[in-house]
Amino acid sequence: MQTVRHSEHTLKTALISKNPELVKQYEQLDPREQRLLNEAFRPGSDLFGPITLHSPSDWIISHPEAPQDFEEFFSDLHRKSPSSGKQTIYIQCIGLLGNTRSISEEYLKWLKGYCEAFFYGLTVKLLEPIPVSATRCSFRVNDSTRNLQIHAGQILTFLKKKKPEDAFCVVGITMIDLYPRDSWNFVFGQASLTEGVGIFSFARYGTDFYSSHYKGKVKKLERKSSSDYSVFDDYYLPEATSVLLLRSCKTLTHEIGHIFGLRHCQWLACLMQGSNHLEEADRRPLDLCPICLRKLQSAVGFRLRDRYKALVKWIDAESTDTPRVTPKHSREELVTLPKPVEAFKEWKEWITRCLAVLQK
Ligand SMILES: [Zn+2]
Ligand SMILES: [Zn+2]
Repeated sequence: MQTVRHSEHTLKTALISKNPELVKQYEQLDPREQRLLNEAFRPGSDLFGPITLHSPSDWIISHPEAPQDFEEFFSDLHRKSPSSGKQTIYIQCIGLLGNTRSISEEYLKWLKGYCEAFFYGLTVKLLEPIPVSATRCSFRVNDSTRNLQIHAGQILTFLKKKKPEDAFCVVGITMIDLYPRDSWNFVFGQASLTEGVGIFSFARYGTDFYSSHYKGKVKKLERKSSSDYSVFDDYYLPEATSVLLLRSCKTLTHEIGHIFGLRHCQWLACLMQGSNHLEEADRRPLDLCPICLRKLQSAVGFRLRDRYKALVKWIDAESTDTPRVTPKHSREELVTLPKPVEAFKEWKEWITRCLAVLQK
C-alpha cells in the first residue's frame, strides 16, 4: 500500500492559497470554521488523512491529472455556480430504483433528502419518474456481463431538452447499467459540465452485480420493434440495502460535485477522489476534505455547522414520511420503509467529531 502524503505547507497553500485576496477571504471566515478547515494540514489530525493507494489500477496511478487547489477552482471562469433564479438541483429517475414502486419512491426521497443536506441551502426537486421508454434511448445486452444497458449520451440529450428554467443542473439516475458507445464495456455515468446535465447508474453497486448468480442476466434480447421497451418492464433490480444507499449517495454527490467544477481530489482522502473500480469507490470517504469543502462552500455559501447538522439529521431520521394509508386492493404493500442507514453510522460518528471542532 502506497500513501500520497503532502507536506503541511503544500496542503495549507492548496486550502488558503497565496493570493492575498483569497487569504483575506479565508481570514474573514468564522474562526471555528477556520479551525475545522485547518485540520487539513494539522499533523496527526484524526479527521482528515492522506489518500492511500492499494493497486496499480487505482485512479491516481492510472489517470494522471493536474491537481486543483482552491485558488484554481475559485478563478476557473468556466465552472458553473448556482445563481439567482438557477438554484435548483433536479433529479430525474429513469426506470425504478427498487423492486416495487413504493420502494423506488422512498429510495428517491432518501436521495433527495441526502442531497439537500450535502448541498445545504440549495433546493433539490424530483422530476416525475419516467420509464426507460420515455427517453427513446438505444439499449443493448452487454456481451460479457449479459445485463441490460442504456445509451448514456442519448439520455443526456433527452435531459438537456427537459432542463427546467430554474435548474442549476439536472441529474438523471437509474438502476440500469450504462454504455457510452458501442465499443465500450460500460460507464458508471456521464455528464456535460457546461450544460449542467448528468446521468449516473447505480446498477453495479448492488451487492450481487458481480456474482455468478446475478439475476439481471438476459439470455437473448427479443424486440418486436425499435420502440419495444417491454424487456425493461419486469427487469431485475437489486435489493435496496444500506450499502446500496451509501454507494448511491456517494456517487450522486461526487458527480454533482463535478458539475460545480470540483475536479478529482489529490490532496487528502476525500469523496472527490477519482475511482476506477468498486473497491476504490468504497474506500472513498462519505464527505469532502477541507480543500474541497471550501470550494463547495464558496460556490453554495452554507455555514459548515448547518451543513454537518443537516447530514446528521438525515442519518438520524428513520424515514422521510409519516406512514401512509394503505389503499384497499393495492397489489403493492404500502408500508413505510425504514431508511437503511446502518452503513452511515460510522460516518455519523465522524461528522459529530467535526461538529465538535466547530462548536468548541
Ligand atoms: Zn469523478
Ligand atoms: Zn478533497
